[in-house]
Amino acid sequence: MAFIEALTCRECARTYPAEALHVCDYCFGPLEVSYDYEAIAANTTRESVAAGPRSIWRYANLLPATEDGAVDLGAGFTPLLRADRLAAELGLGELWVKNDTLNPTGSFKDRVVSVALARARELGFKVAACASTGNLANSVAAHAARAGMRHYVFIPANLESGKVLMSAVYGHNLIAVEGSYDDVNRLCAELASEHPSWAFVNVNLRTYYAEGSKTLAFETAEQLGWEAPDHVVVPVGSGSQLTKIAKGFRELAKVGLLDAEPSVRVSGAQALGCSPIAQAFADGSDYVRPVKPDTIARSIAIGNPSDGMYVNRIARETGGVVAAVTEQEIVDAMRLLARTEGIFTETAGGVTIGVLAKLARAGRWRGDETVVAYVTGHGLKTADVLTSFNGHASKRVEIEPSMKSFREKVSI
Ligand SMILES: [Zn+2]
Repeated sequence: MAFIEALTCRECARTYPAEALHVCDYCFGPLEVSYDYEAIAANTTRESVAAGPRSIWRYANLLPATEDGAVDLGAGFTPLLRADRLAAELGLGELWVKNDTLNPTGSFKDRVVSVALARARELGFKVAACASTGNLANSVAAHAARAGMRHYVFIPANLESGKVLMSAVYGHNLIAVEGSYDDVNRLCAELASEHPSWAFVNVNLRTYYAEGSKTLAFETAEQLGWEAPDHVVVPVGSGSQLTKIAKGFRELAKVGLLDAEPSVRVSGAQALGCSPIAQAFADGSDYVRPVKPDTIARSIAIGNPSDGMYVNRIARETGGVVAAVTEQEIVDAMRLLARTEGIFTETAGGVTIGVLAKLARAGRWRGDETVVAYVTGHGLKTADVLTSFNGHASKRVEIEPSMKSFREKVSI
């Protein structure tokens, strides 16, 4: 059973029924799912979670859809890896990497899509749709195929070839729009009002969709032995994921799965080529001025981020920061993570690790805290950057098939 109480406006606290609504009619604030936490607490223990499926649906009581009709490809419960070699290079103490590259379509988006389409089915929708920078397109196409739902997936025309291919393979309608993600998003908002029977996961279903990101916090705490970390570093595009990770840790305390209210410092990571939130943070401003994105980290290249203001509030309130890294730092960090921990991330993960490294160099860490870095997409999706960016990614030694050639050319 889902323990939804209502949808509540984040700004004015007016409440709405749990339908396909995402904006407050009164003040245009975003709507948020509120739950009956007492009922959840009465029905949820660490043991009941542990007995659940090895996917996000082990936390079904804290999600806005039931497990019964879930559109499930096995999203979530990805490894939380202790990263001692990376920690040593950065001068950190206890560092963990949440390896969300291992989701069914290779990114954390499977978490939010699984939740959104489960709720969409409960609400009677037959058609799935989304505006995407790539990873979401992959995930919606895959989950809609799994659910037998028709789908329309909208992407910017200049997307990485790997992401286009991974969306097209599932069939149905992949629509490339000549424009930026923000243009695609605007078009989809118009389409959503013209086609109210379509479940746009990140438009009219956004309130439910966004909740899926809380599972990143739930799993982290469970995998740390039901402890919250001291500090998390999260990649920031729209900012929704960061706000939901913060909400997730608070909820665990509310329903008694954590012993005490955790104080997790939450930091956001952006690419300098699209860093409106980091800029506002540096300026001490609440206003996030939209920018035109120009970065290889396309999965988080959102020039007009919906949750920007909330990201900065959370970072300030918790003692975190929002920082940005250059294109070169992104690629260097992708290589650093691969070289030290054997994890191949896409550019957005390079942004997370890049900011982690930058903060380390700036002396941000004391060395005694538990830090978790969220690596949210697989490197094969953006492999092009490794060859196009002072490309020694494919450096290799070419030899003849003989022992002589091996001895001559390979240093051992
Ligand atoms: Zn409102």
